[in-house]
Amino acid sequence: MIYFVGAGSGAADLITVRGARLLGEADVVIYAGSLVNPALLETCRADCEIYDSASMTLEQVLAVMDRAESEGKTTVRLHTGDPSIYGAIREQMDALDARGYTYDVTPGVSSFCGAAAALKAEYTLPNVSQTVIITRAEGRTPVPEKEQLRALASHGSTMVLFLSTGLLEKAEQELMAGGYSADTPAAIVYKATWPDEKVFRCTVSTLARTARENQITKTALIAVGGFLGSEYDRSLLYDPGFSHGCREASK
Ligand code: SAH
Repeated sequence: MIYFVGAGSGAADLITVRGARLLGEADVVIYAGSLVNPALLETCRADCEIYDSASMTLEQVLAVMDRAESEGKTTVRLHTGDPSIYGAIREQMDALDARGYTYDVTPGVSSFCGAAAALKAEYTLPNVSQTVIITRAEGRTPVPEKEQLRALASHGSTMVLFLSTGLLEKAEQELMAGGYSADTPAAIVYKATWPDEKVFRCTVSTLARTARENQITKTALIAVGGFLGSEYDRSLLYDPGFSHGCREASK
């Protein structure tokens, strides 16, 4: 049996209760060493075989899983944040399907949720934005034409950029060309929920400069949008004058 487990965004106690249990029981653990907090591995059994996938290819990861399966062992594949976001999990699952192995997925706290917590922000504010676009700037990994930053920026929604810290000169130009004004609030969140977390608030036009001045080159998320400003409407859900399934309007 193979369990894909989301490790959470950084702090070791942000893994789910289920993920922690699976990790503590595993015979074999393959973890994404570049971003998974090593403190999590302290909860593994003393005889657990541990592999860091940072230096491994997909084929090498699968070879470890093949051997574990042939020996009837339980494997945890520990991914950073939530495995569904830039986790390269699909190609593993397809390979496991082809081999007829049984596997399961335990979600995790994605770093974009960790970043909102670090910012003490709400991505979906009434009358500001009801949409969160999760995307990345185009670098060595191509991004489909219709999803270029310039096109997505035309929505003016909340946007969170993964994997883009080294691409901010071009990204900020694209975001502005697409429709965000230069003074749209923005933030860089470095190592959200880790002990050395850092938050830098800026504007769309100062993203690249802010990253440069603070030597932020990786392990950061870029958040953009009016949700980082001070204007919004209060929610209808908790408005005394609004009735819904669980509450009658009081006036
Ligand atoms: N599956 C992960 C994302 C993996 S892609 C998740 O759900 O969070 C790796 C990228 O995620 C990094 O380049 C960075 O942009 C972002 N990232 C991961 N952990 C982060 C953290 N704690 N703080 C800020 N950004 C993080």
